[in-house]
Amino acid sequence: MRPEQLIRVLVWSEGSEPRDVYGDGIRDAIADYLRTLPDMVVRTESANHPGQGVSRNDLDNTDVLIWWAHVCHDDITDEEAQQIAARVTEDGMGFIALHSSHTSKPLRALLGASGTIAGTEVSGGPEQIRVLLPEHPIAQGITDFTLPREELWREPFDVPEPDERVFESFFPRHDAVFHIGGGCWTRGAGRVFYFRPGHETYPTYFDTNVLRVITNAVRWAVKNPA
Ligand code: ZN
Repeated sequence: MRPEQLIRVLVWSEGSEPRDVYGDGIRDAIADYLRTLPDMVVRTESANHPGQGVSRNDLDNTDVLIWWAHVCHDDITDEEAQQIAARVTEDGMGFIALHSSHTSKPLRALLGASGTIAGTEVSGGPEQIRVLLPEHPIAQGITDFTLPREELWREPFDVPEPDERVFESFFPRHDAVFHIGGGCWTRGAGRVFYFRPGHETYPTYFDTNVLRVITNAVRWAVKNPA
């Protein structure tokens, strides 16, 4: 594959992740996997890097941006969030928001909503990811699977109804459904995917199915590979 055909992926996580679970960060857990794939070239960035890792130059060289944030949402300025959103809507950059990025500034800018949820319970027990759209590109190779431990979230989830709801989450210990386990939106020229699991104290981003979902989402979200 020629270099110009590779999908340029930027994996961003803020850097607050516990080192005993994620070493150098969730970004590296995801990037290490994506780098084994022949069709991607992968970089990582975090809030600790110059320009928070989302400078104009960073974004111009990214086809798909993967975002995990939790306690440092305000490290991103409103201007930077708007710049990310514009790169999606105007240039077709893909944006994949993970777990606690539900209230991140870029996702809120893209969806025009607060992204808030009604509550959390860190010891949520198992999370079943149910495939709702088995024919969808993001569900390729995925059947229903269970993460042994995850954080439970309560609805409502303040986002617009997705164009496509690929997955939903079910927490059997609490008999609770979170309807947007994985959802897709189109915004202008770009595509947005949100995926619910990924609490930082659990090794979710080492799970084979989760990594496959993220891989599929990158390939779905890319519109104009360089
Ligand atoms: Zn969490």
